[in-house]
Amino acid sequence: MANFFLVSIVIPVFNEENNIGPLFDELQQALKPYKYEIIFVDDGSTDKTAGNVKKLTSKHSQVKLISFQRNFGHQMALTAGYEHSTGDCVISLDADLQDPPEIVPQMLDKWQQGAKIVYAKREKRDVDDPLKRVTAVLFYKYINLMSDSPVPNDVGDYRLIDRSVVDYLNALPEHSRFLRGLTAWGGFPTDYVFFRREKRHTGQTHYTFSKMVNFALEGITSFSTKPLRLAIYLGFLTSGFSILVIIFKSVQHFIFNQGDWLPGWASLFFSIVFLGGVQLITIGIIGEYVGKIYQEVQNRPKYLIKERINF
Ligand code: UDP
Ligand code: MG
Repeated sequence: MANFFLVSIVIPVFNEENNIGPLFDELQQALKPYKYEIIFVDDGSTDKTAGNVKKLTSKHSQVKLISFQRNFGHQMALTAGYEHSTGDCVISLDADLQDPPEIVPQMLDKWQQGAKIVYAKREKRDVDDPLKRVTAVLFYKYINLMSDSPVPNDVGDYRLIDRSVVDYLNALPEHSRFLRGLTAWGGFPTDYVFFRREKRHTGQTHYTFSKMVNFALEGITSFSTKPLRLAIYLGFLTSGFSILVIIFKSVQHFIFNQGDWLPGWASLFFSIVFLGGVQLITIGIIGEYVGKIYQEVQNRPKYLIKERINF
């Protein structure tokens, strides 16, 4: 069957100078039978990443570059790629060759069979270090417990989405973009292609522990107000518990004339500290959402573009 459709490939790159060349070679190989464009989104790299992409753009008109003014983060880079893509479907993947381009044809097959979203799903995580593995398991467990729309397990940002999904994402007004969740939230027909995740080709991961924690918090708070409800439950639970203790103590003292009424700084100390902690947690949770509202009403641009090539 002739392939009349256009495939857009979106690749966020942040300090990946040594991965650009090998990645492009593999992509070219995998995309030979198709019409395609490759959009590199340079997320404020400080090394030769942009220069290396520019070399490709001057030789290949289907290679395009968007350069950000500064680092806006992986999710914003993906967002910019989606907004600039023109393909009938868009495939996003990491630049470090952890997402193997050779499964692209399988993804396209599933798409042609009717799936609007095709996730590349990791078969094993044996190349990730133990910390990453444990945090990833906890993250998906927790996010699916807390969130109203499930995020599929063990899929990263390597996925194909149909033009209709791209349009839906581009039309979303929110500035906080947890794309894994937003994509799933739409409820489009979904399919999977399995692959084994390789080690990073060169360089280090850019997701430090604190970045991962931030990412997880973003994911949870973007998709659910359940933590707020949890705060209310916690409040009921602790105040209910202390009322019960007071009733118990009063009955013991006034009716049975038993029990120590005066001493007990330990229990006082405990309850003050405990309640103080609960209050701080709940204020923190509320603050998290207030902060999100603040960000949304500020209505700042999601990213700033320094340069665009081949558009
Ligand atoms: N990335 C980005 N901006 C950032 C961090 C990462 O555009 O602030 C890109 C990075 O270049 C890579 C992809 O996002 O193409 C995934 O990042 P990384 O491989 O460091 O994450 P990991 O695979 O370790 O989760
Ligand atoms: Mg990676």
